[in-house]
Amino acid sequence: MNSITIVGGGTAGLITALILKKRLDVKIQAIVPSNIGIIGVGEGSTEHFDDFRQHLHLDVKDVLRETKGTLKSGIMFEDWTNKHSRYLHHIHSMWNIKLGLSARNYEYLMINNKGASCFAPMTLFHNEVGLEPSDRLVQYHFNTFKLNEYLIKLCKENNINIIDDEIVDVNLNDKGIKELKGKKKTYKSSFYIDCTGFKKLLISKLGAKWQSYSKYLKTNSAIAFPTGDQEDYNIWTLAKAMKYGWMWQIPTYGRTGNGYVYSDQYTNKEEAKKEIEKLLGKEIEIAKHIKYDPGALDKPWIKNCVAVGLCANFVEPLEATSIGTTIQQAFLLMQYLENYNQQSINIYNKQVSTVMENVRDFIQLHYINDKKTTNFWKDVNKVEPSDTLKQYMHVWKSGRLLKSTDMESIGHYNLFTLFKEDNFNLIAYFNGLIDTKLLRNSYNIVNKNLKRYWLENRIEGDMLWRNTDRTRKMSHKKYIQEIHDKN
Ligand SMILES: Cc1cc2nc3c(=O)[nH]c(=O)nc-3n(C[C@H](O)[C@H](O)[C@H](O)COP(=O)(O)OP(=O)(O)OC[C@H]3O[C@@H](n4cnc5c(N)ncnc54)[C@H](O)[C@@H]3O)c2cc1C
Repeated sequence: MNSITIVGGGTAGLITALILKKRLDVKIQAIVPSNIGIIGVGEGSTEHFDDFRQHLHLDVKDVLRETKGTLKSGIMFEDWTNKHSRYLHHIHSMWNIKLGLSARNYEYLMINNKGASCFAPMTLFHNEVGLEPSDRLVQYHFNTFKLNEYLIKLCKENNINIIDDEIVDVNLNDKGIKELKGKKKTYKSSFYIDCTGFKKLLISKLGAKWQSYSKYLKTNSAIAFPTGDQEDYNIWTLAKAMKYGWMWQIPTYGRTGNGYVYSDQYTNKEEAKKEIEKLLGKEIEIAKHIKYDPGALDKPWIKNCVAVGLCANFVEPLEATSIGTTIQQAFLLMQYLENYNQQSINIYNKQVSTVMENVRDFIQLHYINDKKTTNFWKDVNKVEPSDTLKQYMHVWKSGRLLKSTDMESIGHYNLFTLFKEDNFNLIAYFNGLIDTKLLRNSYNIVNKNLKRYWLENRIEGDMLWRNTDRTRKMSHKKYIQEIHDKN
């Protein structure tokens, strides 16, 4: 393998090019047509973006400045359940490690019903960051167009050849893709990566099939609408339940990204717009109207071509999983590309399926709640959970929290999956799926001394620490503003 052609210059194409180029000594060219735009949504990231940042040795402040970004630590769910009007899903690897939270600590909080805010540091609720917040806040919001410009700049700096052309034909041979016919010229290389978004221009020619998750997930449409700058920036994405889906709100520097994700079985673009306008008390302008079928390719890698990004998989915008899966897919590819054979292809495809089924289950879990306000919410609650999710629910009903060993034995767990047991347990708790009475019995079995001196004192002390202002803090907006002012 000495050359790779990537078709498509959205977030997926450019991130994949950069991850591979940093590790492999190959010629990489990316075909990025100036006459076809990017999808223009996708402004929230998971912590996996920080792995990408570190892989490229990028400075946090440069990333924030260039992408007009802000810091993020999770998703604030509003109105998703009757019992908890708001709760923050802030669990990601850094918090867990830094705060030393174990499953037993979560049990203690859950059986004592400590309240939604106890699960997360108070500073997050006050939009305060430490003076050097990057060691904890490892998720980001960004202006997607600025992110794209930044990634193009990084590609050029890393000797990735960006070519302005549009691919019009794909010629095949027994190895897979023989060549790509562009409007300007023909392109040949040893390996091809399809990053053409929902078009799936290359991989569909090789016979990949889309496996729809619509049996489990009901949303299939979204409107996106930007609004102005905010007074201060939340350190989380707002996900507010609406009549027929949910609304996102993402603060970036100078602009707020918003959208309404819904099912077209229950509402349409015009009605969705009216519902939002009533909520916000002002008119909005729809920038994008997007339809999608949640799902993933049966085989993202076939012969000498792999599909990454929207052309390989997309579940829905909840929990901002797509850029994260792209990053995981690219890191996995980096492992398996050298001297690949059919066995490497099979392993890669299996790993990516696991990543996607983990996302599918996690997203479905959010909709299994006690909300019955409209037909949409009544119907999504009647949808049968996937087999894996059913098994997880069985664990919760029996008064136990899910453990990594449960996930491993059920099958949806590997190093690259986005969501681990703590993420699942937290959402299950807020959605009322855990039998907390039985959970108390299970917790009571823990050795008394261990409970008193380690788990309970520790967690109470930890909460105290989290809720008092021990380090110097500043408002999130001021922090971001200073990054721009210093430039
Ligand atoms: C409503 C919505 C909200 C979302 N929110 C989030 C979020 O908060 N967080 C998150 O992680 N993800 C989110 N996503 C997903 C996110 O948008 C994508 O993961 C991300 O933008 C990557 O897209 P892409 O690069 O695969 O595709 P695109 O951005 O569509 O890029 C496709 C590329 O292919 C090129 N192309 C097309 N045709 C040709 C051709 N014939 N020849 C050559 N090139 C061609 C285009 O020019 C473009 O460069 C969201 C998606 C939707 C639909």
